[in-house]
This record gives sequence, structure tokens and C-alpha cells, in this order.
Amino acid sequence: MAAPPSDLKISQQARELHFRSIVVDTHVDTTQRLLEAGFDLGERHANGSVDIPRLRDGGISAVFFAIWVPGTVTGREAVKRALAQIEAVRREVSSHPDDLILARSAEEIRHARADGRIAILIGIEGGHMIDCNLDVLRGFASRGAAYMTLTHMRNTEWADASTDPPRHNGLSPLGKEVIAEMNRLGMIVDVSHVSDKAVLDVLETSEAAVFASHSSCRALCDSPRNLPDDLIRAIAAKGGLVHINFHVGFLSQEFIDFESAHPEIEREVEVEAKRRAGENGARELVEWDRIVREFAGEGKLPRVKWTLIIDHLRRAADIAGIDHVGFGSDFDGACMPFGMEDAAKFPRLTEALLREGLGESDIQKILGGNLLRLMEDVEAAAHRGKGSG
Ligand SMILES: [Zn+2]
Repeated sequence: MAAPPSDLKISQQARELHFRSIVVDTHVDTTQRLLEAGFDLGERHANGSVDIPRLRDGGISAVFFAIWVPGTVTGREAVKRALAQIEAVRREVSSHPDDLILARSAEEIRHARADGRIAILIGIEGGHMIDCNLDVLRGFASRGAAYMTLTHMRNTEWADASTDPPRHNGLSPLGKEVIAEMNRLGMIVDVSHVSDKAVLDVLETSEAAVFASHSSCRALCDSPRNLPDDLIRAIAAKGGLVHINFHVGFLSQEFIDFESAHPEIEREVEVEAKRRAGENGARELVEWDRIVREFAGEGKLPRVKWTLIIDHLRRAADIAGIDHVGFGSDFDGACMPFGMEDAAKFPRLTEALLREGLGESDIQKILGGNLLRLMEDVEAAAHRGKGSG
């Protein structure tokens, strides 16, 4: 695919490498925006981070849209809303047939790419949406869900979250059944958001490699949402991946230290985001993203630069190896650092990796090659499972 014109200042080598590579972002929350009345992914928007023009500018070949309802919504209501969001993604894809195509496998991502279209994949962000029912899980898979994040911020009935007091000491027996069924379905198990003990239980239970779709390094920023070095190592040892999250509160220790010392600023951001979003709840995340950068510009919050993404990537790669890392931005669901405000800035990552001295083939692994390999491994494990059982 030829690179579109851009004012992004990067080297010719970086542009050329980036736009001939398969580039994957394993987590965006743009699905919430599809629920806004009148929102069209085909238009270039002045706010938020993702739309078709900016995915094109960013040379992104495949992107996972998260299906998400808050952990406070459970039972049949959560299932209903999740299904409605899956349909919203599918509708949006079919209304832009020249640009987008729904994909579920590595092969489909490659086809989309050869066809000049962006592959849209679906990830379920939170196991509460299956309502403890494996039939619901199978239904999600049949509607195209490629991965499921086992929890969101709260524990589910069968798995502990990293941001809730433990209730199951990791995974419950039902949690282990969920993993086995995901393996059988060829769905990738996503350990972002789950507790450290639950990650260990998953690694012991899963027949297939797993990944963290949007988590950074706890050694660099001490958030429970980030992964400690030993878990990064353990995920990689099983053939899995860690995809670095761009959220300022997961990248910057300075940022979270400042926030915990100044809870009043955090509250001010929250109130302002609510005010600007008005009745439109889906809009709140997008406003939050913008306000945090505005406040940083006014000196009310620390200024976080996008280059921290590369520091986290390097850390994870040093521990896990180049074959086990990638990017999962959290666009439209978190606060982006300066210089990585939207999907159009993605080529900067390639430029930075070249400057770090990485070879072109290693950079291509990080951008998407590793994820394609993981998908193929998960698919192969599903076939093996069917063969033996
Ligand atoms: Zn998340």
C-alpha cells in the first residue's frame, strides 16, 4: 500500500518500511463511538483517535474493536448489550466495503491487506458479558469475536481482576472451563486486566499461547494494570505476547504519582469530561483524553510524551524477546500521550524502532508479524484439540 501524504516528520526508510508492513493494533475502544448518534467511521473527526482516514494515514492494516459494557452491568443485560455492539461493528464494516472487512484469522488479515482493505477484528473486553454461559461464549465466537479479555476492572463470577480484591484466588473451576472452551473455539485468551494470580492460572490451564492485548510494564509504571517482569517472561515462555498500552496512566510513573498526590485534579478532569459529554455517555472517554492533554498543556498535570511507549516496548522485548511484543493502543478508551494523539501517528513507532537500531524484520514482527503467528498458533491448537477429542 502506498503511503498517503502526511506532515508527520519521519524518514523515508521508516515510511517505506511502515507502509509495506502488516501493522496491527490489538485494542481500541472506538466501538463506544459507534453508539453515538450520527457517528460515521468514514469521516475524519477532530476528536477521538480512530476513524478510517486516520487508520489509513497511520498505515494500520488490522485493528481489534473492543466490545465493552461496564462491569456493573451483568447478567442478560450485559449479553444483550454485547451482542448489540458486535452488530454495530459488523454494520459499520459493511457500510464501508471499500475500506473495511471483518476478519477473524491471520489468513483473513493477510487477504484484507492484499485487497487494500483494513481488517476489523472483534475482542470481547470482559468475561462478565458471557453471563457464566458457554453457549453465549460460542455465540460471540460465531459472530466473529477473535479474543476475550477475561475480566474488565471488576472480578467476574469466575476470574479475578487486577483492580478488585481477589475473590477466586485467580481462576475458579468455571474459569478453567471457559479457558478450555476458548481453546477449542480458537479464541485468543486475553490476560489484560486480570490479576497476577489469574494470569498464572491461565498459563497453567490454556493449551494455546495467550496474550495481553493492552498492558504495559509494571517495572516502569507501577499500576496493577501493567504486567510485572516475571509474568511477561512467563507469557512469552508459553509462546504468548504482550502488547503495550499507550495510556498515560500506564506509561508514566510521574503521571500516576502526581495524580495520587492531587486527587482534586483527577476529580476536576472527571467533572469536566462529564460536562462536555453532556447526555452522551459514550463521548466521555473521548473528552477525558482531550482534557488530560489540555490540563498538561496548562501545567496542571505532567506532560507525558509518546516516546515512553518505546521505553515500555524495549523493556518487554528485553525480557520476553522481540518475538513476543507488539502494540495495543487503547485509543478512544484512555488518555493518549503527546505525539500519539491518534492512529495517524502510528508510523512514528516504526521510525523510533529503527532509531533504536532494530532490524527491519524485527520491526515487522513487532508491528504485526508476532500477532499473526499467535493467531495461527491458537488456530492450530484448536484443530489439535478437535483431532484428539
Ligand atoms: Zn481495557
